[in-house]
Amino acid sequence: RIVYLNGTWLPEADAKVSVFDRGFLFADAIYEVTAVIGGKLIDYHGHSARLQRSLSELGIPCPLSEPSLLDAHREIVHRNGLDEGLIYLQISRGAADRDFAYPAKAEPTLVLFTQAKPILNNPRSETGISIATVPDWRWERRDIKTVQLLYPSMAKMEAMRRGADDAWLVEDGLVTEGSAATAHIVKADGTLVTRGLSNALLHGITRASIIDLARGAGMAVEERAFSVEEAQAAAEAFITSATNFSTSVIKIDEVIIGDGTPGPVSRRLRALYTESRLASAI
Ligand code: PLP
Repeated sequence: RIVYLNGTWLPEADAKVSVFDRGFLFADAIYEVTAVIGGKLIDYHGHSARLQRSLSELGIPCPLSEPSLLDAHREIVHRNGLDEGLIYLQISRGAADRDFAYPAKAEPTLVLFTQAKPILNNPRSETGISIATVPDWRWERRDIKTVQLLYPSMAKMEAMRRGADDAWLVEDGLVTEGSAATAHIVKADGTLVTRGLSNALLHGITRASIIDLARGAGMAVEERAFSVEEAQAAAEAFITSATNFSTSVIKIDEVIIGDGTPGPVSRRLRALYTESRLASAI
């Protein structure tokens, strides 16, 4: 693979970052993941806007202008011949002598790489996934998409150890989100319920698109927190993320959701999302 590192295109084995990089030492870095289908970027403008917000929350300057960032995304797809998968972007504050205080002057480190991955025909979208709930022990600025991913990684390992595919994180009895996805449920009357935006969770780009599409299709949407028990009793449950689109949840801890197969509402929302995002891919 060819990767992008601070303005240069390199074979991945030649792309090197300093051991003093604050992304490495302090997780002082933010990231974005954009899906690619048919060589085109899905929901790019949402990801680019959230990237700017994450940077400004941490006071990290963006090393490229917005048009140049878009060009770099397109060029890495082209250089790697990527048809379906994702582009990972990371910007750290840069390298500086180790100190908790931010360095007065540091050049941010910008990295882009690609990963091929089935999205449209991901087998998990046909079967659905099982979830194990774990406590949400992350920090309280989950709205910033930082690379502090150790706890979500531990949560996923714990879920897998319990025989589930992934984890939902729970705080005060309420589901905050998945280890790397937004959590949603559908009530028996067809209402979509998804947690409202706050610092407690990442403001999912796919979440925003799904809410728009659901409302556009005449569905009722409630933006509020829900408990594990409410989710277990719901008609349907599903997750959304850039690379999952929407994927049904068929089991939460030991409880089967609905009839244990992907439900009609989450299937319909996945179809609506796929259709509209392929049409607007850039
Ligand atoms: N929540 C968390 C913690 C995530 O890591 C992600 C995506 O990686 C999401 C939600 C979904 O966000 P998006 O739809 O923007 O990919």
